[in-house]
Amino acid sequence: MTLKEIPEKWDLIVIGGGITGAGILREATRLGLRVLLVEQKDFAWGTSSRSSKLVHGGLRYLKEGHFLLTKIAVEEREQLLKEAPGLVEPLGFLLPVYEDQRPGRRMLKVGLSLYDLMARERQHRFYDAAEFAKRLPRVKREGLIGGFFFIDAQVDDSRLVLRLINEAVASGACALNYSAVTAIHRNALEEVVGVRVMDTETGEARDLVTPAVINATGCWAERLHPSPEPHRHLRPLRGSHLVFPAGSLPVSQGLSFVHPADQRVVFIIPWAGAILVGTTDLDHTENLSREPTITEAEVLYLMEGVKAIFPSLEISLKDCLAAFAGIRPVLSEGKRPPSEESREHVVWINKGLVTVTGGKLTTFRRLAWDALKAAKPFLPPAKVNGQRDSIFFEVPDKPAQAYGLGAQVWRRLYGRYGQAATSLVRSAAPQDLSLIPGTHTLWAELPFVARHEQVRHLGDLLLRRVRIGLLAPAGGKPYLKRIRKLCQPVLPWDRKRWRKEIRLYLDHWNQVHALPFKRAEVRAERKRISLSAIGARLSFLYAKVVPRWRRGKS
Ligand SMILES: Cc1cc2nc3c(=O)[nH]c(=O)nc-3n(C[C@H](O)[C@H](O)[C@H](O)COP(=O)(O)OP(=O)(O)OC[C@H]3O[C@@H](n4cnc5c(N)ncnc54)[C@H](O)[C@@H]3O)c2cc1C
Repeated sequence: MTLKEIPEKWDLIVIGGGITGAGILREATRLGLRVLLVEQKDFAWGTSSRSSKLVHGGLRYLKEGHFLLTKIAVEEREQLLKEAPGLVEPLGFLLPVYEDQRPGRRMLKVGLSLYDLMARERQHRFYDAAEFAKRLPRVKREGLIGGFFFIDAQVDDSRLVLRLINEAVASGACALNYSAVTAIHRNALEEVVGVRVMDTETGEARDLVTPAVINATGCWAERLHPSPEPHRHLRPLRGSHLVFPAGSLPVSQGLSFVHPADQRVVFIIPWAGAILVGTTDLDHTENLSREPTITEAEVLYLMEGVKAIFPSLEISLKDCLAAFAGIRPVLSEGKRPPSEESREHVVWINKGLVTVTGGKLTTFRRLAWDALKAAKPFLPPAKVNGQRDSIFFEVPDKPAQAYGLGAQVWRRLYGRYGQAATSLVRSAAPQDLSLIPGTHTLWAELPFVARHEQVRHLGDLLLRRVRIGLLAPAGGKPYLKRIRKLCQPVLPWDRKRWRKEIRLYLDHWNQVHALPFKRAEVRAERKRISLSAIGARLSFLYAKVVPRWRRGKS
């Protein structure tokens, strides 16, 4: 359905199609409410496709004394591992310990024991230096005392958002991308009565009626609802990652280590067939309307970390596949170093407008419950749900083995597409049930999501429905011909539109996901091309006009 076609009246309108909005949409639908979600760009376009992709308690938060947040996050991790296998998967981590490192072995042991206590399972163990080096070849040996092993979990962040949205829509909700809320309407008593929504592509707008609005716009939240706490505001903190091909770094599980430059904990994580190196944590002072990008200083910081932990490794930026940056919505009084800021969420209420921001991907369900609890006085009576019921539709316990796909492939498909996985495979041509090189993605996923998941632009398809834009060389440029052939029948784009989409996608990729050095090269190349085009035009004019002018004179 489009903005023109949807009903005018809703029980609840959710603004923001990131993990927070998607979780609220899903939970509100389970309560039997008539809910609409609107997203100004694409679903998961904001921070929720740019995280470190960990579903974790956050060991580091223990150091800052945020015990409750860690406990809740560990509980959520355990619950999500049960509810969404194939989407949320366990990930083992190695954590080296060096002489003079802070936090040292004893502190880490206390933290990891607490972590285990919260998960009600003893998972961590310590290896001496020789044993640890066997598990992590090429790790820096100088000063190595040994290291810990512990278990967390990882996810495909934008697929988590999409699975929640898809299942909410299958239960009767409505979700529109490229639709921004431009105003919140109130009556004479200042109570919320509706919103104005604008299609950001066509500029068409509509006024919709609702007694309750939840603002789940992450780092943009104060644009619609200024903080009621005079001394606490959103502090946009940027975090960036580099993506390397599998095999370029000697890790088969997660690696968490202390960066020598600032003693912050950073990660190297295998993910979706590639390896992520991240993250940074810096004040983001750019305009929030522009997409965040990694800076040269951040690239150098992350590479310095890699070289420090693997000093003998031959790796350079030439190996890097892509980069991405996201903005943490963090509530702050502005006094602490970025990495010490609390990741807890807040809920603000103002006569039918409820804002929920901060928090983490991992704790999305708790944000949803808190937001819906705050919105309850404005909502019609709703069903009561068992909070411990699974948030996802059930999928078969045992992945099917049919169509020549192994158990792991089925598990991944069920995790990402839920019950729709079977129709995805059934509708595929046999040759498309193979993997796109360097990724765990099947070719068949592309036409399926292009048909069923509100894809408006090529970037929606390649950066968020599947993640080829981050995982394949040059954003998947070498595969664009095949992608076009596969998706042409299901996307209503003619030749001209395909050419335009490809150009826009590659331009966008170069500006946002290429390394800053590459971006500069591309800009210089473009300048060179446009200068030579101007030169060509001038010499053309000269060749045509000057002889005529001379003839005229004589
Ligand atoms: C570098 C980094 C690493 C992280 N790693 C992890 C991790 O490993 N694990 C973890 O649990 N958490 C992690 N986080 C935190 C987590 O990613 C965020 O807390 C979470 O994604 C925020 O989700 P959100 O839905 O609140 O915001 P967003 O995902 O930003 O969604 C808000 C949406 O609102 C939309 N919007 C804004 N204004 C309007 C409007 N007027 N109308 C309609 N739509 C609007 C935006 O376009 C946007 O899509 C990380 C964060 C960063 C930056």
